[in-house]
Amino acid sequence: MSIPLVDLKAQYRAIKPDIDAAIQRVIDNTSFIMGPEVTAFEEEFAAFCGAEYAVGTDSGTAALHLALLVLGVGPGDEVITAAHTFIATAEVISLVGARPVFVDVDPRTYNMDPDHIEAAITPRTKAIIPVHLYGQPAEMDAVLDVARRHGLRVIEDAAQAHGAEYRGRRVGTMGDVACFSFYPGKNLGAYGDAGCLVTNDPDLAEQARMLRNHGRQAKYEHLVTGYGYRLDGLQAAILRAKLARLEEWTERRRQNAATYNELLADSGLVLPYEPEHVRAVYHLYVIRVPERDALLAHLHQRGIGAGIHYPIPLHLQPVYRHLGYERGAFPVAEEATDHVLSLPMYPELTRGQMEEVVGAIREFERGK
Ligand SMILES: *Cc1c(COP(=O)(O)O)cnc(C)c1O
Repeated sequence: MSIPLVDLKAQYRAIKPDIDAAIQRVIDNTSFIMGPEVTAFEEEFAAFCGAEYAVGTDSGTAALHLALLVLGVGPGDEVITAAHTFIATAEVISLVGARPVFVDVDPRTYNMDPDHIEAAITPRTKAIIPVHLYGQPAEMDAVLDVARRHGLRVIEDAAQAHGAEYRGRRVGTMGDVACFSFYPGKNLGAYGDAGCLVTNDPDLAEQARMLRNHGRQAKYEHLVTGYGYRLDGLQAAILRAKLARLEEWTERRRQNAATYNELLADSGLVLPYEPEHVRAVYHLYVIRVPERDALLAHLHQRGIGAGIHYPIPLHLQPVYRHLGYERGAFPVAEEATDHVLSLPMYPELTRGQMEEVVGAIREFERGK
């Protein structure tokens, strides 16, 4: 691909001395699992979010799993989430023995439509997981309002939204718990798998710390059945080096989104919608296109790494057949999965590259 969807090599070239020094520091200390880099990263990332506590984990999925566990969600419970998201959001609900209950999304933001939550609540409902999809904050006031009225817990899936803001508050500070992924391609990405759980509640943070590390507080005293979900020192040191640049990278993503918006203004395609009261961080720049699959093939032929996030809504995934959802259950999510297209998006993307992407889209539109 001459213009990839994400260019991690360009990022490494820009910050090589910092990354190499961070890695060397960990090797010199041999603090490979947990240790000072992990503690420092947790403090720095909590401060970045404006939250009290961050608990590093070995993936975003592990953080979501721990979030459900510390909130006491288990067998027989139901958890409401969006039909249009990455599988991990729902997977962890099944993992604790609970049942995922899906709701449709908003056609402009692709996030959980809060107007549908109430109808999905039953006496078994324990929690809601809004996802800040593509880096766009979910409509949190409405989600929190339904949750408060029904006594439900809220877990923010912020895996794609580091630094995004909703009415001046950073994502990660609004629910009971929030989960971030540092998968390499995320806005803040490690050089391997990593994630973290963020909360303002000291008890939830303490429980999560214990569960991620074999249920222990002291070295060989285990209080509960836990997991091997620890963040490693190399990833934490790399994340610290990158966290220092994250604001600058987010601003560049936002500028790139504005450039795409300008270049595509008269294209007739559906462009990302950013409400006045949010700051989106454009993990992905997603447009909606009538002949999506044909345009995707055309872009690939031109060496442009476009992608689809995601091609199948969760309620129609084979793994959830037993839940009994039919096609037509969530029309907005179903329409989105057929037409969304993610264009190359990363901080180092240049105006010239975006002109090339848009040129290829226009060429396709003319050739139809
Ligand atoms: C990436 C992602 C996850 C999972 O994170 P991992 O670090 O890959 O385990 C969860 N939810 C969403 C929305 C994601 O994009």
